[in-house]
Amino acid sequence: PGWPLEGQVEFRDVSLRHHPGHPIVLSGLNFVIKPGEKVGVCGRTGSGKSTLALALLRGVRVTQGSVLIDGTDLRHVPLHILRASTSLIPQDSHLFCGSIRFNCDPLGQATEQQVWRALEAVQLKDLVSGLPNGLDSEVAEGGANFSVGQRQLFCVARALLRRSSLLILDEATSALDLPTEAALHHALTHAAAHATVITIAHGRKNLMALPRVLVLENGRLTEDGDPQVL
Ligand code: ATP
Ligand code: MG
Repeated sequence: PGWPLEGQVEFRDVSLRHHPGHPIVLSGLNFVIKPGEKVGVCGRTGSGKSTLALALLRGVRVTQGSVLIDGTDLRHVPLHILRASTSLIPQDSHLFCGSIRFNCDPLGQATEQQVWRALEAVQLKDLVSGLPNGLDSEVAEGGANFSVGQRQLFCVARALLRRSSLLILDEATSALDLPTEAALHHALTHAAAHATVITIAHGRKNLMALPRVLVLENGRLTEDGDPQVL
C-alpha cells in the first residue's frame, strides 16, 4: 500500500459549490476521522453525501477550507498517489469481462488463498465455490450474470485486496438486504481493520452497526456520534 499510510481524514471548515454562482453544497464542515475508524454518513437525497466522497478523492475542488489526509492538504497530493491508496465503491458498481479471479485482483498480486479470504469477508465464498469453475468462472459484460448486490460485494472484495487505506462505500450497500449489510459491516471491521472506512447511506437504520455516524442536512453537519444514541 502506498500513501496515505494512516488514513486519517480531516475536513477543516470545508465549503464547496460545484460551479461559480451555483448554490453551496457543503457548508462549513469540520470533523476528523481517525485512522482505521469505521464511520457512516447519512442524509437525505441532495444533502451532499456523494459530493463529500468526491471531495475526498479530489473529484471536486473545495471552494473554501481544506481536506487533509494524514495531515496533508489534498491539494498537495498527486492524484495518482491519492487514487492508488483509496477505493470508492459507487452505487452503480461495474465488473469487468473476465474471470472472477481477475475481477477481484486485476493486477494479479494476490495469492489464491487471499482471494478466497476476501470473498469470504464479503459473504461471496459460498456462491463462488458453488460455481463449476470457481474463481475461473466468467463474468459477463458489466456483471450481468450477478445481482446488483453481488456486484457491489465483488467490488468490496477488490478493494480489500488492494489494501486501500481509505475505503468509501457510496450507497454501495443500498442493494443489500439488512442482514447481508450488517454482515458486511462486521466483516469490514475485521478484514479491513487497518483501513478507514466511510459508508454512505440515506437512512441511519442501515448504519446502526457502526460506532459513529455523521448526519448531513443541506450540506451542513448536524449530528456526529453513536447512532444508538443520536
Ligand atoms: P443522493 O442521496 O441522491 O445520492 P447526495 O447526498 O449524494 O444525494 P450530492 O450528489 O452530493 O447529494 O448532491 C448535492 C447537491 O449538489 C445537489 O443539489 C446536486 O444537485 C448538486 N450537484 C451534485 N453534483 C453536481 C455537479 N456535478 N454539478 C453541479 N451540481 C451538482
Ligand atoms: Mg449520492
